[in-house]
Amino acid sequence: MELFNTLGRKTERFKPIKEGTVTLYTCGPTVYNYAHIGNLRTMIFFDLVRRAFEFNGYRVKHIMNITDVDDKTIKGSAEMRVSLKEFTELYTGYFFEDLEKLNVEKAGKYTKATDNIEEMQKIILKLMKEGYAYEADDGIYYNVSKFKDYGKLSGMKINGKYSRISNDEYDKENAADFALWKYWDVNDGEVFWTGKLKKGRPGWHIECSAMSLKYLGKTIDVHCGAVDLIFPHHENEIAQSEAYTKQRFVNYWVHGEHLLVNGQKMSKSQHNFYTLRDLEQQGFNPLAFRLMILDSSYRNKLDFTFESLKRYEKTLKKIDISIKALNKIEKYEEKEDNLSRMNLKEKTESLLEEFKKAVNNDLDTHTSLSHFFAVLDLIDSRVNNGRVDRKEFETLRDAVAKMNDFLGVYVNYQIPQEIIDMTEKREALRKTRKFAEADGLRREIEEKGYSIIDLQDNFVLVKKYNE
Ligand code: AMP
Ligand code: ZN
Repeated sequence: MELFNTLGRKTERFKPIKEGTVTLYTCGPTVYNYAHIGNLRTMIFFDLVRRAFEFNGYRVKHIMNITDVDDKTIKGSAEMRVSLKEFTELYTGYFFEDLEKLNVEKAGKYTKATDNIEEMQKIILKLMKEGYAYEADDGIYYNVSKFKDYGKLSGMKINGKYSRISNDEYDKENAADFALWKYWDVNDGEVFWTGKLKKGRPGWHIECSAMSLKYLGKTIDVHCGAVDLIFPHHENEIAQSEAYTKQRFVNYWVHGEHLLVNGQKMSKSQHNFYTLRDLEQQGFNPLAFRLMILDSSYRNKLDFTFESLKRYEKTLKKIDISIKALNKIEKYEEKEDNLSRMNLKEKTESLLEEFKKAVNNDLDTHTSLSHFFAVLDLIDSRVNNGRVDRKEFETLRDAVAKMNDFLGVYVNYQIPQEIIDMTEKREALRKTRKFAEADGLRREIEEKGYSIIDLQDNFVLVKKYNE
């Protein structure tokens, strides 16, 4: 498998630290609002990296952090007048719903920054002891000039003069000492930790170092994020982790490009964003968005338009028709035509082979999709000719399922009838305004591992993500 490594900026053959296993860390969301579809493009990209390894038979140990303490989450919770925990749990819940709707596989573990404060303090203390960090009036800072490899990922050089950055909106143009631990001030309200350091809270960068080291070990195989994280976030993660362990932190740094709107990066601060709910309310299936992401390379910027999403919605309907034809397989007869079967088997196998090559060519999802569509065409042509043979369809079904293990463009789990019945009963109760009973049913449904997402005048039922 070949991957483009940001460290060194070249495509490299992947070699795991431990045969058959991949340790993967992906920088997760800051949970202060709904994710926008730019953030979700990145989550789909992580999912594809993970699935590509699994497609190649690796067991993937995948950790994703949830940033549940920073300037934005603290501000948001104060504005809503709820605790930081309540506030961030609300948006973490919505985030998981989005992932489920996009058919993103669950990480091995989601870990919250606030559950790992002790590890962060331990690292900070050692960095101070060894002279990589120093104390200032408002907190503890990492001295970037002390780390001799600073800049090896991003190419950012430390000039003679550089400043210090305390807030979470980091300078993307210049190297600066950055906060490892920020001392409490009134804006932080109830949010602080003590332990081995003075009353305060962690900086953003230390969170990821601590969680990666704790759950995956000193050196890991792959670390992913969107391109805006290369500097300073990932550069700083390297500086902290390698100064702490004296070992290489990550072997392959893999970064995904941004989603744009009219040529500009989609972002909350520019107010040019859509959430998945916006797309759903306009009648789009979230998987149409997934398909749109798959159709371009993770290394290219992608301009989002509703016009183009409409095309993918159409493609999704076509996929659905072919998959439905496959699902009727039990009803098809066997026709004795060995030559046709042999031809089809050969053709399918070669498409699967090409598909695999594309996946392993630095996740060429665009090409792999085209091979998937070629298999669907084989299905459709047989249905249209009225010449369906059960054996042939078994071959096609297996190929499509294998390809979908990577692509994830259709959902292959079935929601049990019992859950569907309960959901309908709940809807009926809500319509007659029996809210207490309806809520009771909702809880029962959740206990069974499913959740209901209420939309404007509709609802979606999904399998729940467990942390
Ligand atoms: P945040 O919730 O802001 O921490 O962002 C979560 C992830 O989404 C980070 O890896 C960001 O770099 C990424 N991200 C933010 N904006 C975009 C965008 N327009 N396109 C793709 N990824 C983005
Ligand atoms: Zn991170």
